[in-house]
Amino acid sequence: MKILDGIELKKEIQEKLAKKIQGFDSGLPKPNLVIIQVGDNTTSNVYVRQKIGFGKTIGASVNHVKLSGKIEEKELIIFVREACADPLVHGVIVQLPLPEHIKKDNVLDAIDPSKDVDGMTSVNVKKLWSGDKTAIVPATARGVDTILAKYHVDLEGKHVVIVGRSMLVGKPIFALMIERGATATICHSKTVDLKKYTREADIIVSAVGKASLITKDYVRAGQIVIDVGINVTEEEGERHLRGDVDFENIKDIVEMITPVPGGIGPLTVACLFENLVDAYAKKFLS
Ligand code: NDP
Repeated sequence: MKILDGIELKKEIQEKLAKKIQGFDSGLPKPNLVIIQVGDNTTSNVYVRQKIGFGKTIGASVNHVKLSGKIEEKELIIFVREACADPLVHGVIVQLPLPEHIKKDNVLDAIDPSKDVDGMTSVNVKKLWSGDKTAIVPATARGVDTILAKYHVDLEGKHVVIVGRSMLVGKPIFALMIERGATATICHSKTVDLKKYTREADIIVSAVGKASLITKDYVRAGQIVIDVGINVTEEEGERHLRGDVDFENIKDIVEMITPVPGGIGPLTVACLFENLVDAYAKKFLS
């Protein structure tokens, strides 16, 4: 069994990006990310803090704008458009979730696709699904792809079973895996007999948000298990961060596995900044 180390890989990406940014012409502005947050969701606050912290370590600017949870959709769209129109801004993300009165897709589509470093606009989604290499790929999917590449997992002809079909996580992973030459299956809450599919897989990617969904009955020897899920559990009075996978009871069965914490989570933030630096480089260096 091999544990795939997301923390180490995050450090490698961090060093690579810091060097790249240092190497950019000193007359040019630094890569600049704007994070637009609406309301005060506690989990979003944690994610935003992580992004600001990572940005600092590589020498990118991160501007966090927190807007009232009562903002109207129209006003928010104007705000997003204005942020994108600023030539000193290279990436714009709208932190999800948004309050219920706002239609997420309308807001995401107000982002300039060339600055859409979360890869959520229709333009980038279409590019990803049509195999266009210029697509900006959502950071978590890029993180999954990056860790598999780091550990030399050849995806061609492999059967990847993805559990979870969200636009943010499950579907982009599916699109990327088929692009890499894998045969992919996507499962979700309506899938009957989930373990039939996961046991057939060469690679399982779980992106659900349910602790211990994938138990030892769902896996077999020789598989690679990528755990994207993040769950906070209460065990014997203590809070723990857990994935979807019952790591302790599976790690000795499968060939490779990502831990939680320390797997895909750290890579997601690193890959977001890879997207930012790519968007920046396209603007100034191509
Ligand atoms: P969503 O809630 O949007 O999607 C969850 C998916 O899981 C849905 O497609 C749902 O199916 C499916 N699902 C729910 N219950 C089951 C079940 N019992 N069996 C099979 N499938 C099921 O979540 P996200 O995609 O946004 O996130 C998924 C997980 O990944 C969360 O834990 C989140 O915290 C984590 N995450 C981790 C990141 C990281 O950096 N590691 C980044 C982003 C998210 P249906 O569509 O039928 O409802």
